[in-house]
Amino acid sequence: MDYLPLFFDLKQKACLIVGGGAIATRKARLLHKAGAIIYVVAPVIEQELQQIVGGSGGVLSFEHYQERFIEGKVLVISATDDESLNKQVSEHCQQRNLPVNVVDSPDLCSVITPAIVDRSPLIIGISSGGEAPVLARRIRTMLETSIPAGYGKLAHLIAGFRSRVKKAFADGEQRRRFWESIINGPVAEKALSGDVSEAQQDLEAALSRGDCEVGGEVYLVGAGPGDPDLLTFKAVRLMQKAEVVLYDRLVSEPVLDMVRRDADRIYVGKRRSDHTMPQQAINELLLSLAQQGKRVLRLKGGDPFIFGRGGEEIDLLAESGIPFQVVPGITAASGCAAYAGIPLTHRDYAQSVRFITGHLKEGEVNFNWQEFVADNQTLVFYMGLKGLEQICYQLVHNGKPADTAAALIERGTLPEQRVHIGTLESLPAIVAGQDVHAPTLLIIGNVVKLAEKLGGKPLT
Ligand code: SAH
Repeated sequence: MDYLPLFFDLKQKACLIVGGGAIATRKARLLHKAGAIIYVVAPVIEQELQQIVGGSGGVLSFEHYQERFIEGKVLVISATDDESLNKQVSEHCQQRNLPVNVVDSPDLCSVITPAIVDRSPLIIGISSGGEAPVLARRIRTMLETSIPAGYGKLAHLIAGFRSRVKKAFADGEQRRRFWESIINGPVAEKALSGDVSEAQQDLEAALSRGDCEVGGEVYLVGAGPGDPDLLTFKAVRLMQKAEVVLYDRLVSEPVLDMVRRDADRIYVGKRRSDHTMPQQAINELLLSLAQQGKRVLRLKGGDPFIFGRGGEEIDLLAESGIPFQVVPGITAASGCAAYAGIPLTHRDYAQSVRFITGHLKEGEVNFNWQEFVADNQTLVFYMGLKGLEQICYQLVHNGKPADTAAALIERGTLPEQRVHIGTLESLPAIVAGQDVHAPTLLIIGNVVKLAEKLGGKPLT
């Protein structure tokens, strides 16, 4: 982190702007919004800027900058097109540890101003550390459109009740739950849609009832194959809501980064042969955390109901009457296929697709192989790396042409994704010659031939 974001209280504080042009005016508008007393020094000062300074109770100095102008100020902004002057202002301020911002010259700044989304009292600042302001502005535009203007109203409503709620709920945890039940419930919806007085009445009623959702619940959420952009909105919302998260090895770092920062994280493992926590223990842990009243997130790679043992995990919860939600995720087959340019079905090549576990039981894959050798279908093997050679051998042995196309997708959808392509005959040797890392997915069928044309990334 190159900069620490802080929010500066400038109300009735003296700030200096060096420069009298359009950029200085823009900065003055911002300072004025924050309630600062604005001083401007420049030989020529635009009309609007003069008005802003007047309105702020500040002073205009129609002259050249001198060091004495920074005395008694809490912030200085240099907005001139004279580079040596900007440098001088910066040096003077930095010598005194006075925060200084020089427009468009990050090197001369001790503080930088972010792009701002203003839903006062809620304020979002976005900064690229001066490296890519265009990108920061783009993100601001995205946030502007996705955060309803009503959030400001909601924040005001909350502010008005804060001290009363603090009195009513002495326990901090209970208070947080009360507020979360408010902001996740109909009160917030009303405030956001502009119905503030009704929202206020409802909040009043909830407070007098001492309403506070206490029961625990479990969210069984599909985290997708790795790329965080593949999460569903619902997944992200619940990831932000949970107080404790149980995750396993398939959940990628960038996905985990999207879980609420202060949530407790419990790694429950599961490598092929190293089960960090046995399944039964996971089931019981989910239950006991929920019984303690926690909002528990069980985050699983891909989709929880596809080779994810999701059914087993909610079984005990259902029996014990714990509320739970299941959120589907993009399964590895969909994610890997899309990112490798392999359509799982295609009018010309495959009319059906099978998802199969390649996990070996005592070193053997026991299938009715005859079912898999018919034409015009795509076979997707999960957990198939260890059994790759045997899977390819069995398919050929049972009548599938040895030149059937096959792909092994390594770390699909992640930046490190690699796609190894061959045939049933050649793929095991191709893969053996590479340092391949789990997780990998095996796709077999003529659709694989399309990867060359449709795959966005260079093939290895
Ligand atoms: N529930 C998961 C599958 C769990 S089984 C889902 O729906 O995707 C674990 C197997 O999924 C791994 O052995 C591998 O075959 C596959 N897998 C999961 N993520 C993958 C990824 N990013 N790239 C390739 N294969 C992946």
